Amino acid sequence: MKRPKTRAKGKNVPAVTRVTLAPSDAASWQYAPAPETYDYFKIAPRYGLFIGGKWVAPKDGRRFPTLNPATEEVLTHVAEAGPADVDRAIKAARNAYERYWRRCSPQTRAKYLFRIARAITERSRELAVLESLNGGKPIRESRDVDIPLAAAHFFYYAGWADKLEWAFPNRHPEPLGVAGQIIPWNFPLLMAAWKIAPALACGNTVVLKPAETTPLTALWLAEIIEQADLPPGVVNVITGGGDTGAALVRHPDLDKVAFTGSTEVGKQIAIQCARLRRPVTLELGGKAANIIFEDAPMDQAVEGIINGIFFNQGHVCCAGSRLLVQESAIELVVDKLYRRIQSLRVGPPLDKNTDVGAINSKAQLAKIDELARSGEQAGRPRYQTECALPSRGYWFRPTFFTEVALSDRIAQEEIFGPVLSVMTFRTPDEAVEKANNTRYGLSAGIWTDKGSKNFKIAAQLRAGVVWGNTFNKFDPSSAFGGYKESGFGREGGIFGLLPYVKDRWRSA
Ligand code: NAD
Repeated sequence: MKRPKTRAKGKNVPAVTRVTLAPSDAASWQYAPAPETYDYFKIAPRYGLFIGGKWVAPKDGRRFPTLNPATEEVLTHVAEAGPADVDRAIKAARNAYERYWRRCSPQTRAKYLFRIARAITERSRELAVLESLNGGKPIRESRDVDIPLAAAHFFYYAGWADKLEWAFPNRHPEPLGVAGQIIPWNFPLLMAAWKIAPALACGNTVVLKPAETTPLTALWLAEIIEQADLPPGVVNVITGGGDTGAALVRHPDLDKVAFTGSTEVGKQIAIQCARLRRPVTLELGGKAANIIFEDAPMDQAVEGIINGIFFNQGHVCCAGSRLLVQESAIELVVDKLYRRIQSLRVGPPLDKNTDVGAINSKAQLAKIDELARSGEQAGRPRYQTECALPSRGYWFRPTFFTEVALSDRIAQEEIFGPVLSVMTFRTPDEAVEKANNTRYGLSAGIWTDKGSKNFKIAAQLRAGVVWGNTFNKFDPSSAFGGYKESGFGREGGIFGLLPYVKDRWRSA
């Protein structure tokens, strides 16, 4: 297939060049639908709050619906925790901290964490289906990435629980107390595991608040924790929106706040915690650059770019939403990208053939659409697939813009959707300068045949994680976190323990 030529840079050209792909050009052949079933578990019509080891109704009786974003169907109604519910959750966590958890042996804490990890593994199919139903992500992603990684985090931190003295040699690590933990909607169970596992391993108790659009796997995790027989109140799960999160952050009897979400909310939380002199860690937004040099393994690189921005609908904080291509390779890369996006399958998240699922919410879809339009208004050529989309639900076609300028909104703002901004560079220095030209600093990718070039560039990038000839790879033993407005503090690995201990020198 011939790709329309991209416009020459700097020329005064018509406002919008939109290139769409006809459905007939799309995938080379169609697969029969292969939907994952979910008739072997039930979603109840309503859920309460998990506080002090019990399921309780919210004090003021308020609930809100949670949807399947692929169909807009209501899956169930969950409780909206008010300040009184936040207060009783923190009281339950405090009680559990003082009475059991800080006193129990590290080996016992490890045993509970192993139990949770095993139960997640045993119920992995159910959890994967639930994650895709409630979040819109393809089942392939929740089955192969989210759920195994969530279990792996509990396994990993179980291993540290009785080795904290080795993690911090010559020091005497002690728990902080009660941690308030707030998570976003893009990796609901995995973010819960990132937060809960290290906190518990270090002897803290927690109150977790999942995002309002994706509360279900956190509630299932609460059920797993109940079945694992954890002492009541060690983990409390309260559902609700921003007001519930804000009530949690400002509660006077909290010892630590851990937040993953947008930079805007993270800043408000940082101000609040500074006023209260409360320890806080923030994992915030990103605008990762993937840098492709002319000597890169091109097919592998394009596959990495596709994986980094289009799989999981670009709902990834470290999504490679900017692509910097060495000028001599731009035609080749754009051509390969153009061909590859045609074969992406956009559709039902529960279908095992789906590459790109549903956008998580109507509000997020509107945000992606508005930002993509700004790319058109700036006159950037827009490429997208024209595959048929389901008639209901929230969908966005995989899209990329070429000839993007650094100052464009699509090059600067986090889009959190399947939209890629392509730019060029001539020299390694220019690549570094452009990659660092963002208020964020969460992650980056480098694609080159030369190992030495890879290391040299990586050392100059202001990003918490830099992948070399790969992208979006995670392991519980590796630290993850940001520079600049992507936040501070690290999760994962030995560094993930640090935010949950009072680090004292051992007295002689
Ligand atoms: P968000 O900030 O809107 O919400 C995140 C969580 O904070 C939700 O649970 C929400 O209910 C809660 N919240 C909202 N307002 C609050 C307030 N005033 N006080 C306390 N809590 C409040 O973010 P989102 O849209 O759910 O998630 C997307 C964002 O998360 C993106 O910016 C993405 O980059 C970021 N993210 C970062 C990482 C990372 O590790 N750095 C990982 C995943 C997502």
